[in-house]
Amino acid sequence: MNKYAIAIHGGAGTLVKGLMTQALETDYKNALQTALDAGSRVLEEKGTSLDAVEVAVKMLENSPLFNAGKGAVFTHTGTHEMDAAIMDGKTLQAGSVSLITGIKNPISLSRDVMEKSDHVFLAGGGALQFAEKQGYKLEHADYFYDEVRYQQWQTIKDSDTFQLDHSVKKEGKFGTVGAVALDSHGNIAAATSTGGMTNKKWGRVGDSPMIGAGTYANNKTCAVSCTGSGEFFIRGVVAYDVSCLIEYKGLSLEEAAKEVIQNRILKIGGDGGLIAVDTKGNITMPFNTEGMYRAFKKSSGETVVSIYKESFDTI
Ligand code: ASP
Repeated sequence: MNKYAIAIHGGAGTLVKGLMTQALETDYKNALQTALDAGSRVLEEKGTSLDAVEVAVKMLENSPLFNAGKGAVFTHTGTHEMDAAIMDGKTLQAGSVSLITGIKNPISLSRDVMEKSDHVFLAGGGALQFAEKQGYKLEHADYFYDEVRYQQWQTIKDSDTFQLDHSVKKEGKFGTVGAVALDSHGNIAAATSTGGMTNKKWGRVGDSPMIGAGTYANNKTCAVSCTGSGEFFIRGVVAYDVSCLIEYKGLSLEEAAKEVIQNRILKIGGDGGLIAVDTKGNITMPFNTEGMYRAFKKSSGETVVSIYKESFDTI
């Protein structure tokens, strides 16, 4: 059987260990396992890496535990503005959406942008018009309501503070989600979806939907999905930087990802992590925060679901 591999993340903004209960940890791990299983099933059945990353991210978007889809954080005006991107490493085709509201699975909309429009990136009202044309139904705001996240917003809504998953107070923080996969046909893909940051305003967009910053895939090098302080990840062009270090400098997947997360992005003040896979089935998941919700599975049967540092830093 040809090799396949899949890795997923639920954000590098994990609860600090002191605030994590056993029950909550189990909930997070179960949600990761469910998404991992859904993506792996596609790959086992010889489906494409694109389908696998979309399905896995959809499962994470449907969970209230993560800052994407159903669990998206509140903006300054009490709405939810979501960003997502998907990229196909075989064709270098990509699709992105940002500042969208009411869409249950932004990752599917980004895939439709890639496959059913002439464009790569649609935003705001225009993206929603496109969604309507594709037959998407808008969810009522209640669908995205979460008491914890609402309280998180209440504590800073009258301030100018934008709260990232990864900064200042760690309680009540949630993370962006993403997936990368290698399918049995030898193709890789990446997908990322997020609600961004609590109390964001002025149409703030992070790195997640930006091809090359939060999301990138190229069969020649790797597929990458990032999570972290978006402003820094944009300036570091993180996902593409990992790819470039492999392509131009000959680094291995693990070396390239480690160099970017543990050195380059830290030097400019960025915190977070990424997941990456290459066409040989190597997986790496470095992060420079206390934890990163993450999991992977390989066709060899090797599988890991993890949150904090002690289990492994990179694989
Ligand atoms: N990178 C995301 C953003 O800046 C946030 C996150 O990863 O939690 O929008």
